[in-house]
Amino acid sequence: MPRPIRATISAAALAHNLGVARRHAGAAKVWAVVKANAYGHGLERAASALGAADGFALLDLDEAARLRARGVTRPILLLEGFFETRDLAALCAHDLTPVLHCAEQVEILAATPPERPIDVYLKVNSGMNRLGFTARDAALAWDALRRQPHVRSVTLMTHFADADGAQGVSGQLERFAALTHTMMAPRCLANSAALLRYPQTRGDWVRPGIMLYGCSPFPDQSAEALALKPAMTLTSEIIGVQRLQPGERVGYGFNYEARAAITIGVVACGYGDGYPRHAPTGTPVLVAGQRASTVGRVSMDLLCVDISAIAGAAIGTPVTLWGEGLSADDVAAAAGTVSYQLLCTLAARVPVREIA
Ligand SMILES: *Cc1c(COP(=O)(O)O)cnc(C)c1O
Repeated sequence: MPRPIRATISAAALAHNLGVARRHAGAAKVWAVVKANAYGHGLERAASALGAADGFALLDLDEAARLRARGVTRPILLLEGFFETRDLAALCAHDLTPVLHCAEQVEILAATPPERPIDVYLKVNSGMNRLGFTARDAALAWDALRRQPHVRSVTLMTHFADADGAQGVSGQLERFAALTHTMMAPRCLANSAALLRYPQTRGDWVRPGIMLYGCSPFPDQSAEALALKPAMTLTSEIIGVQRLQPGERVGYGFNYEARAAITIGVVACGYGDGYPRHAPTGTPVLVAGQRASTVGRVSMDLLCVDISAIAGAAIGTPVTLWGEGLSADDVAAAAGTVSYQLLCTLAARVPVREIA
């Protein structure tokens, strides 16, 4: 028997969440963001469940080539563009759309004209100050691209730093408008948070990621309230039971001390599976469908849960770490991180089962 841990990926949930994104997108087209192995869900698997998207956005040429090999004919957006001249041949062969964020990329494109016309995205830095052209450089890049005969189309793009937070999008939206108002081109701005909260950011294309996987981008609004369904459910089982007397301790560092007599369920899941090691005592889990809490330190292969209140819990009792019935958002919040991180660091050793 293998260890009882497994991740279940629901194709129906992915398709449902894409439908939610589409409703918010209105007339805008939808890039399904499938970077980081589709946020841990498996690139090919997610792309087929999200087959109704207008295109797929990711980072690596290799990943794009894998989608083409699977027969994906929709547009594919490379969110960081290309990294060196020799990438251009593959870019062209696979008909990929690079996001150009720096002058070096525009120069490479000019110096090595692709054999076929290509579509490009021009990334404008509207204040996040990560990737993108700022101020005058945006206009220079725009002019340079418009002069390149092999560039078939340019779409203007920016990325929001706080669409999920209190600062919102208005400052960046204004800066983006000021930088691009003379440029006649389609626009692509919204991540999940902007798409859900700020309809004015829709433009011509939107780029939802996390919402497609059934998690909320917002700390103050649940996935359920947004009508999203979890696509990944991580489950395991209790493989050991310990009864602790008051004053006894559990786990590495003797980190947790029982105040009263409690029963501990030892679950086959640890940070080696992608469960966050920094999840403190009190992080929620489901035991036989009922809410319980972790106790003590998470170790590589195991974590401990207080099952005192769960009648009948024993070796073999099913445990849900996150997903159906317990949002990854809640687990992430308890662990001081975001669901993005939990999903995309699911370990390769966890067997994945797909369900319709
Ligand atoms: C990851 C990413 C997205 C998707 O963001 P979510 O918050 O997951 O919706 C959109 N645009 C860019 C440029 C990204 O890198």
